[in-house]
This record gives sequence, structure tokens and C-alpha cells, in this order.
Amino acid sequence: MRAEPTPTVVLRTRPLGEADLVVVLLTPDEGKLDAAAARARSSRRRFSGGLGPGMRGVATIARGRGALLRLEGFEPTADHAAVGADLTRFAYVAYLCELTDELVLARHPDPELFAALCEALEQVIAGTPRAVHLRRYELALLRCLGFLPVLDGCCVCGQPAEAIAGALAFDGPRGGLLCVQHDRGAARLPAAAIAAIRHLADGGEPGPIDAAPPAIRKALRDALQAIVRSHLRRPLHSQAFFAALPRDASGEGV
Ligand SMILES: [Zn+2]
Repeated sequence: MRAEPTPTVVLRTRPLGEADLVVVLLTPDEGKLDAAAARARSSRRRFSGGLGPGMRGVATIARGRGALLRLEGFEPTADHAAVGADLTRFAYVAYLCELTDELVLARHPDPELFAALCEALEQVIAGTPRAVHLRRYELALLRCLGFLPVLDGCCVCGQPAEAIAGALAFDGPRGGLLCVQHDRGAARLPAAAIAAIRHLADGGEPGPIDAAPPAIRKALRDALQAIVRSHLRRPLHSQAFFAALPRDASGEGV
């Protein structure tokens, strides 16, 4: 039996028997994995720092002969207290974790995705939670899964997609931009929203997008949500939390 410390984000927990928990973890080098945390429910001292979704820390994971790994210890490395004190942060963190858990396959490690999730969590927990942080992470996740929309030409034929009155035909679930021959009545997305997708997908800073007009941010949200939804098997529970959040003055929502 070896026990190895590894950087970790807790994505979810579920009960295992009377006293234990299964903890779903994201790690940089082994991807998403399940580990049994013995007595995590029966003893408060066992994981006294908590095992809440979105917690970042160093996990000590033991590999036995059985199928299930064992979580021997978890030391938080970032302050998580703000998540329990604020519904907005709670909702954002729940969404980031549930989206990751639903879309990432077990044991497909991606250190870049791990870093993107840690960065998004840091921004919404320690900083001010803004919708642009969710959009940036959605694009990091779509990139990891190979689902980024095509933005440099028609996603069917590769021909240039031309803007008409400042908007381009775009269908995320079909693959991205569309030329006039293939748009089949697709919705039009403002060119500024396309530019925002490109900016965030390239790892650009969230600031300029956060400062964009509300209509552009809303178009960006709707375009990315359509792509994300097309890959989900069911609606996310965490999206119900967003409905309970106060809207900002623009009515943008998240
Ligand atoms: Zn085309």
C-alpha cells in the first residue's frame, strides 16, 4: 500500500454505507477519480477541514488491491469559508464543480484543465464572482474535451463566414460559425460576442469582457450555454441556484 500526496479539487461527495464517503476528486496527473474516505461521516475529526465541493488541497491517496482508492487525508490549501457565507459564491462553485464532474471522463488527466479550474475557483471565492469567470472556464473545459467552436471560418466547409450588420451566423452545437451556404437560418451572434469567445478561449484576461455591454455578455453566455447543454445528459442541479441569485442592474444573470 502506497499513499501519495497530490494536489486536488473536491468535485462531489456521496455517502458510502453508514460512516464513509466516496469523494470525487480532480487531480492534475490522474484526472478525475473516486476515493473512499473512511469514517468521514461518523467522525468530525477525521477530515476536520471539510470535504466540500470546490475545496482545493493536498490529498493523500492510498492505492490498495481493491478497485476503490482510499482517501487517507486532505489538507486544504485555500480558504473556503467565503463559499458558505455567500449564496453567489456557493452557486458559482457548485456550477464549476458539477459541470466538471458531468463532462470530464474518469482517469483522463489534463493538467491545464486542473489549473483552469483552480484559477476559476480562486477568482470566484477570493475575488469577486463574475459571470465571465464561468464563461472562461466553460471554454477551458470545451477545449480540453475537443469541443471548442470553430471561429476561423465556416465549421462545415471552412469558407469565410461574413458578418451582416455586425453579426455572424453561429450554431455552437453544430460546431461554430457558418457561411451563407450552410447557415440554414442559424441564429446570428454579434461579431463582438464572437471576438469575446476568441479572446477567452485564447486565455485572455476576463476584464475587457466583463466591461463589455450587457447585450454582448448575454449573447456570449447564451452561445456557450447552448454548447455546454448539447454535451450534458441532464440539466445541472446547480443551475437552480442561479435562478435564486439577485440579478445585476443589467439583468444579465449568469
Ligand atoms: Zn460553409
